[in-house]
Amino acid sequence: MRTFPLQIGTPDGLLFQGEAERVVCRSITGDLAILAGHCNFCTALGMGEAHVVLPDGTTRTAACIGGMLSMMDGECSLLATTWEWKEDIDEERASKAKARAEDLLSKGGLTDREYKIAEAKLHRALVRLSVKN
Ligand code: ATP
Repeated sequence: MRTFPLQIGTPDGLLFQGEAERVVCRSITGDLAILAGHCNFCTALGMGEAHVVLPDGTTRTAACIGGMLSMMDGECSLLATTWEWKEDIDEERASKAKARAEDLLSKGGLTDREYKIAEAKLHRALVRLSVKN
């Protein structure tokens, strides 16, 4: 299968640079897959599970939480707000974050801003747990 150059970075640095057969991740408008030969394209990323298929056929899974993906002249660049490979996710931490967020949301009495923050924390924790399991 044809491959294309892929770079994955976060504000903390470069996490992946190499050839890939496929990248699957969640954009703000739905799931998308990038293969070699994809037309020039740019989108904002949502929160969800992401997969990178390498030339040897192995698949690496990650939690992708926001950012931007572009495919320009055959090169894919994914700049994520947060990108955690499955093996780097701390499941216990995510479970605790989920419980804290659920607790806050169920108690009520939050301002709109606090509610949105708790909801976003819950969403991030759920993505991490779904990637891990
Ligand atoms: P927590 O309340 O546990 O900090 P959070 O969703 O508020 O969760 P973020 O603000 O999304 O955390 O992330 C802060 C930093 O911690 C980022 O670098 C992120 O990659 C890392 N991080 C957060 N949760 C986990 C986790 N469960 N496993 C590994 N890294 C994590």
